[in-house]
Amino acid sequence: MLIDAEDHEADLIKEIVQNGVLAEAKRHATAWQDSLKSVATMTKPQCLVRAPNLIQRVFAHADSQEAEIVFSALEHDQWLASQGFDPHSNDSNELGVAVLSKAHQGQDSLFDAWSVGEQVRSLGAQMVNLPSGGSLVFDHNEAMTTVDVNSSAAIQGSNGDLALQINLEACEALATQARLRDLGGLLVIDFINMKSDLDRKKVFNALSSALKKDSAHTKISSFSQFGLLEMQRSRSGNGLQSLLFEECSLCQGKGFMSTAVGVADQIVRELVCSARNESVAAYTIKAHQAVISVLQLDLSDELRKFGNDYECELTLSPDTQYLQSDYDIVLA
Ligand SMILES: [Zn+2]
Repeated sequence: MLIDAEDHEADLIKEIVQNGVLAEAKRHATAWQDSLKSVATMTKPQCLVRAPNLIQRVFAHADSQEAEIVFSALEHDQWLASQGFDPHSNDSNELGVAVLSKAHQGQDSLFDAWSVGEQVRSLGAQMVNLPSGGSLVFDHNEAMTTVDVNSSAAIQGSNGDLALQINLEACEALATQARLRDLGGLLVIDFINMKSDLDRKKVFNALSSALKKDSAHTKISSFSQFGLLEMQRSRSGNGLQSLLFEECSLCQGKGFMSTAVGVADQIVRELVCSARNESVAAYTIKAHQAVISVLQLDLSDELRKFGNDYECELTLSPDTQYLQSDYDIVLA
């Protein structure tokens, strides 16, 4: 059914199946065969395959020519032996780290020495800086990811050459970030406005060629009437971002949390509700210091009136263990 279908989505799925899934299946089949061979020569129980550790995964994902050299060197027994490692060690995990550590003799950190530190840091940011002063700003929502290419304030109103240059840099950075963040689905890219069709063509070509390094399937549209470019990418499921970052537990990724005023107001409403339903002699409110301060300073009149109306005592108890959004109303 998919093979006969004409629409783009069916095409995309077909290509993913043909290229991605088959390649992945072949890799697993080879690894399985290798494991079977090792088992045949084993005399005592030992580890056959171990998942790559963090350092190895970072290097495998990040763009670093030196790291690539080291990793391809890992494939060569001769090179390993020359570096003093046993190429037939079963612990390829430790071997990888040992090779990287040995190859790195400097004072700076391993990540910085192999020029992946900056990339690792950029994954936690919404904005990624470009060499000529521009930046990329990533925004995720349910339907798509939008990528805004910005020029810095200093170059605004300058010639079209700089706009083109920043857009071209954006293509490289976008391809890298899409891979490291493992962005999936629809991406809409708002490049800096370009007047010439030739420049738009250059940017389109630059993005196409930058995306060739990506093993995930990608597809890009031509520029829309309003200068936007759409891109579709199939998620590979093993981006570096998910390895190093997780959703903020304070705001569940929303980027917002309740203000102290909002929480204090909620507490007063809950107190009134509770007092209306049952007779309580005393309440203790446990909350973050910021919330307690609002209750003491801004809502003191309301609380005094509440105490008089319902003939109950109120104790405010700041607690450093509480997040600003959390509180407890204890009845006595
Ligand atoms: Zn947050």
